Amino acid sequence: MLDVKREVRVPSIQTELPGPKARRMVERDERVTSPSYTRVYPLVVARGEGVMIEDVDGNRFLDFNAGIAVCSTGHCHPRVVEAINRQAANLLHMSGTDFYYPAELELAEKLTQITPGKFAKRVFFTNSGTEAVEAAFKLARYHSKRQNMIAFYGAFHGRTMGAVSLTASKVTHRRGFGPLVPGVIHVPYADCRGGNHKPSAGSPNTIDLIEKTLFRKEVAPDEVAAIFVEPIQGEGGYLVPPPEFHRELRALCDRHGILLVVDEIQSGMGRTGKMCAIEHWGVEPDIVCLAKGIASGLPLGAIVARAELMDWPPGAHASTFGGNPVACAAALETIALLEEELMENATRQGNFLLAELAKLKRTHPMIAEVRGKGLMIGFDIVAADGSPAPEEAERLVQMCFHKGLLLLRCGESGIRICPPLVVTQEHCETALSIMTECLDEMSGKPARAGGSVAGAKP
Ligand code: PLP
Repeated sequence: MLDVKREVRVPSIQTELPGPKARRMVERDERVTSPSYTRVYPLVVARGEGVMIEDVDGNRFLDFNAGIAVCSTGHCHPRVVEAINRQAANLLHMSGTDFYYPAELELAEKLTQITPGKFAKRVFFTNSGTEAVEAAFKLARYHSKRQNMIAFYGAFHGRTMGAVSLTASKVTHRRGFGPLVPGVIHVPYADCRGGNHKPSAGSPNTIDLIEKTLFRKEVAPDEVAAIFVEPIQGEGGYLVPPPEFHRELRALCDRHGILLVVDEIQSGMGRTGKMCAIEHWGVEPDIVCLAKGIASGLPLGAIVARAELMDWPPGAHASTFGGNPVACAAALETIALLEEELMENATRQGNFLLAELAKLKRTHPMIAEVRGKGLMIGFDIVAADGSPAPEEAERLVQMCFHKGLLLLRCGESGIRICPPLVVTQEHCETALSIMTECLDEMSGKPARAGGSVAGAKP
């Protein structure tokens, strides 16, 4: 653990990046790990606490991506660590698909209570997001006895064969892996960005397209098992759909007996200020996919389905490690923290960030379309003519890294902001000030007095 007394709220960059130890490790890593990993910048992490990360050379960063929206309660929250230690000392593994243990049972009960809908539900545990999507895919086919799935352009649902067949955010995810699972049809997501960006499809258009074109010309609705949708598209650009979209999608599913599967893997577990982002639109899905933030960093995923859908027999689907007791203990403590204070904090800090970013947009025309809910916030970096500027978005991410702020991109030229839910206003102010400094430099504005927040060598 970092020494709390050392005051770790402000990033501090003391070496060139990467520092000497990090550089050696990156070189070693490059020789032995898969080249399919996408390392955004040469960050070699030694430890983390709350919103702060310390690298192997002692540089400190403000983590505004939370291990890709995973460390919901912050890095190494003491209560989560304690719950993990307690469980680890008692039972590390037993295989929840074959035996019973309290942590898995308690978590299953809790998940049925905190996901939308008052109806009876059942839970299937996995180790990751993609496995949760895979389970939902199989369950939807098994239960409905229908083969086809509808998913959206821009969607990211994971990389195993079923999940990657639903994914359509970057061709790299799919190229060379075909034939993918047959029966998946993609339609445009209802993207409500206006202004500099032309809306790619308004909500009525998407629903109309499915109902009036797809169902008449390509696939009969009674052969569609499920529609998979992210309440807010993550990898695709942190896109918030128009207000009526999810309700209309629910109604469409109801008209045709199609299951609505909501992928809350990135947007769920309190990140948007509600346990599941779909609650913002008052929609009750048939199956909810969870992972990422559920266990504050331990590998765990789950699907929570209407009880009557889970009519598959013993052995039809299972996982040796899914629902691991240590991961379940971490999830129970994570949920307690979310309910006690962190969801509320996500709303409070998210509103602050949204308001401040909207102000930043007024002074920096490079910023377009500030959007989001709670701590799932995105904005685009655009050229003078308003067209997406992916190279500039990348430049901003790299400059922020060198000043001690960890950001990630999404969509074509989007920046995603998804800090741990323990983030304070002070952290947000520091992050905004680093972003402002970088944007000023990018647009050729003179540096402000005081220099870099992190004392960095950019
Ligand atoms: N679904 C969504 C919405 C995601 O954002 C992700 C990961 O980024 C996944 C599924 C896949 O999760 P995992 O990487 O744990 O397999």
